[in-house]
Amino acid sequence: ASKARSNKTAAGFALGLEGAKEGQVVTRFPPEPSGYLHIGHAKAAILNQYFAQMYKGKLLIRFDDTNPTKERTEFEETILEDLHLLDVRGDQVTHTSDHFDKLYEYAIQIIKSGKAYTDDTEQTKMREQRFDGIASAHRDDSVEDNLKHFDEMKAGTPEGLRWCLRAKISVDDVNKALRDPVIYRCNVTAHHRTGDKWKIYPTYDFACPIVDSIEGVTHALRTNEYRDRNPQYWWMIEALGLRKVNIWDFSRLNFIYTLLSKRKLHEFVDKGLVRGWDDPRFPTVRGIRRRGLTVEALKQFMLLQGPSQAIVSLEWDSIWAMNKKVIDPIAPRHWAIVTDKKVPVTIKGGPAAPEVKPLPKHKKNPDVGEKKTVYTSTILVEQEDAVSFEDQEEITLMDWGNAIVRSKTVDASGHITAIEMDLHLEGDFRKTKKKITWLAQPTDEHPLFTVTLLDYDYLITKKKLEEGDNLTDFVTPVTEFREQALADANVADLKKSDILQFERKGYFIYDGENEGVKEFIRIPDGRAAGIASK
Ligand code: ATP
Ligand code: MG
Ligand code: MG
Repeated sequence: ASKARSNKTAAGFALGLEGAKEGQVVTRFPPEPSGYLHIGHAKAAILNQYFAQMYKGKLLIRFDDTNPTKERTEFEETILEDLHLLDVRGDQVTHTSDHFDKLYEYAIQIIKSGKAYTDDTEQTKMREQRFDGIASAHRDDSVEDNLKHFDEMKAGTPEGLRWCLRAKISVDDVNKALRDPVIYRCNVTAHHRTGDKWKIYPTYDFACPIVDSIEGVTHALRTNEYRDRNPQYWWMIEALGLRKVNIWDFSRLNFIYTLLSKRKLHEFVDKGLVRGWDDPRFPTVRGIRRRGLTVEALKQFMLLQGPSQAIVSLEWDSIWAMNKKVIDPIAPRHWAIVTDKKVPVTIKGGPAAPEVKPLPKHKKNPDVGEKKTVYTSTILVEQEDAVSFEDQEEITLMDWGNAIVRSKTVDASGHITAIEMDLHLEGDFRKTKKKITWLAQPTDEHPLFTVTLLDYDYLITKKKLEEGDNLTDFVTPVTEFREQALADANVADLKKSDILQFERKGYFIYDGENEGVKEFIRIPDGRAAGIASK
């Protein structure tokens, strides 16, 4: 398999394609229009785009629409939107169904050449025979009989519906993928593009090599669980005398505590365990983008994973840590205080009337712009900070200066209800232990925003669901955590999906308003062990 890789450098594998010529490479991303894209698909899409761009070639987006029972036009639209969210734009959109006539001709050709036969062996029996290496009773039927049965299949007659078409490769090859795979089957469901024109549909194993070949694909990227099927792919090309295609395989992406299968994701949506396909708890492209994962971090992560052949469940932490490096230099800094935990502080020596000063939104990056900070003689601080202050302690009020804690009022349960401080601007902020965020007590003229901070936990309680596991046994009971906070008025300028930092709280993405209240979703930064450190 490593033959398909090239340019092994001292640093490890450099991403490259065997036999690639600049300007001539054609790759393709072939989603089935049966659901939304998830982070696993993102890996395939990003790698395909990367190689197309690297060699100044072309990327095809091909809808692999050979199973009308599962596919819908709606999903083609949403998949294109998902790709857009990943900054992946194909040079051309195609469909396997564009080639149904051609595929049919190839089916006839392969039957006539004696390399395929029709079979009406019952499904379970066929599976057993394939497993045991036993030939079908129809394996040596005549070409005329095969053509006749295939014709019945095409017409969708009751007789035809009993049959399928199989490639005549091998009865008992050690590679079970080569044991006469089914290449055409009947389906009377109307197809979302070709309607009821066809009653027969090619399988992926037959259609993929043919369509790759006729669409000019030079390098077909496939996940390596298909590796057993590579010889079958080459057999089809050979049997039909088609142009050769290079296969470059890579490992399927998996994450702990995460379901990456359209079928299971459908189940979560149908059972109302998430609010929709764009739920921030979901590993869909929509979900992760909404959660604040940037395209830049996704690309970096996928390219790093690129040549790996190991099929392992990855931790989410590493991708979020990469994301943090992307967003930290550009995320504007805002301040927020949890509403239930605010403590009023009287600042002696503070301004008699509110004063407003422009400050950079990011201390190290002036390009992020300016915000307005309000200074008054009554401010709010967090309970956790307030509790920690010692009597007469000198602390630093960030973006302002030092102050000395003169008195604290404590209620019966030990909560601080009020504090008095003396401003001490000549104090040295390098000498204080505590640098705290604060907000000016809101007034009509200088209000604060009541906002909701959202945090999420994994949807399932088990790192890796096994085949027989019942999903409902492993659903995390509570996965959403809401907290009300007061935020500085500069958040008024934010647009949906803007990423920011509430200083000393973490990174958040502005998710828009819900019943007039701005909602902010916490972006994991790869440091906490779990998603929600509750
Ligand atoms: P699912 O069952 O999750 O829908 P799939 O492979 O059936 O996965 P397709 O729409 O056929 O979904 O996939 C389109 C492309 O995305 C294929 O090339 C496939 O190999 C790739 N792909 C799908 N899931 C993953 C994954 N977890 N990691 C890497 N690539 C993936
Ligand atoms: Mg598939
Ligand atoms: Mg699938």
